[in-house]
Amino acid sequence: MPAPRVALVSLGCKVNQNELEAIQHLFQAAGYEVVPFPDKADVYVVHTCTVTHISDRKSRQLIRRAIRANPEAIVAVTGCYAQVAPGEVLNIPGVDVVVGTRERHRLVELVEQAREKGALVNAVRAHVAGEAFEELPLVEVSRARAFLKIQEGCEEFCTYCIVPYARGPLRSRAPAAILAEVRRLIAAGYLEIVLTGVHTGAYGRNLPGEVDLAGLLRQLVQVPGLRRLRISSIDPLDFTPALKEVLTGEEVICPHFHIPLQSGDDHILARMGRRYTGSYYVDLVASLRNRRPRAAFTSDVMVGFPGETEAQFANTLQLVREAALAGIHVFPYSPRRGTPAAAMPDQVPPEVKKDRERRLLQLGRYLARQYAREFLNETLAVLAERPLPGQPGVYEGYTGNYLRVAFPATGDWTGKIVNVRLETLKGGLIWGKLEKDVKGEQENGFTRRK
Ligand code: SF4
Repeated sequence: MPAPRVALVSLGCKVNQNELEAIQHLFQAAGYEVVPFPDKADVYVVHTCTVTHISDRKSRQLIRRAIRANPEAIVAVTGCYAQVAPGEVLNIPGVDVVVGTRERHRLVELVEQAREKGALVNAVRAHVAGEAFEELPLVEVSRARAFLKIQEGCEEFCTYCIVPYARGPLRSRAPAAILAEVRRLIAAGYLEIVLTGVHTGAYGRNLPGEVDLAGLLRQLVQVPGLRRLRISSIDPLDFTPALKEVLTGEEVICPHFHIPLQSGDDHILARMGRRYTGSYYVDLVASLRNRRPRAAFTSDVMVGFPGETEAQFANTLQLVREAALAGIHVFPYSPRRGTPAAAMPDQVPPEVKKDRERRLLQLGRYLARQYAREFLNETLAVLAERPLPGQPGVYEGYTGNYLRVAFPATGDWTGKIVNVRLETLKGGLIWGKLEKDVKGEQENGFTRRK
């Protein structure tokens, strides 16, 4: 009897991708063979996103592709879109199992239940206060970096954001479980661990006792053999003095801070429900930069929030320049049903959003090049990730401060930290040369000046 086949696909953020890897692991552990999506399979899993109306549409498209790929198969839909709009998903003919952002650990059982009963299984459950963190197996996907989810949910309710409705209240993983996982990953040979979450900076707020991100990091940096610890994103208001201390004082913590700004205009920030000002943000970056002068600061910025005028957008451009951000993700505002901002008057026309997105991306690329140029003709430690696609004999990887670097190298370097002399910048990629003779490795620090 051949093993049943499963094909899985996800949309959206790093947390969603990590969860899909964990779900894949659940099926493999149950004897399923994993095939690429949308190859012919007995089970399809579509892990959805709902952060914009486009994500909803893409989620529905993937669901229909799965159904067409094998009408006999069990089609299971999970994730944020299924959580906030279960009715829409249940109404798609051919869907068999619907699970939101809870109960994913039961997915194999629910799929087999649907097959046995030949009936639709709706396992979407509302989030409840005090809900526990759902443990999903961590799976090593890349041989270079491991993504470790430490936190789930958000209670900020920024007026444009659907995430709190999709992912529910704050839930933090127990520090002991995280420490055990980090030790296991180091033993497995990982040199870099990326801590992820939905509102990572709020880690520990739902746990008893004095548990917070700063305290957790203090414990993690003590773990022997940990070479690099990266934090996926921290919101501006989550930077306590203790957190600043550990982020800027511990060499093992990567000098790369992703701090979502969203807008550089105080009036728009207030309407977004983000309780800080532009000058607070600039001061925060300056205070961190003061202690770690060459760290990279990257951000998320939204354009076209309801009511955003050209002058307010100009404030965002100005602030991004002032903070000298080394990289920005730009998000055109997308009305999400049920969020306060969706009901706000003076929605910005799509063509205006498009134009502002283009101008902000342009500024972002310019600033990223400026930042990268600072490191040319220096030698930095690079974690080699993989052979550069389409370039035989060339590897690519990231420095501690998140510069993407390519360098000629033969042999298998994946997962190794090497010293690379950075030479040229071409199209967002720095080209360099492997330096084998450099004594010792420049770890997350910066190079010796020639
Ligand atoms: S902090 Fe705001 S933007 Fe981020 S997930 Fe929470 S509600 Fe959404």
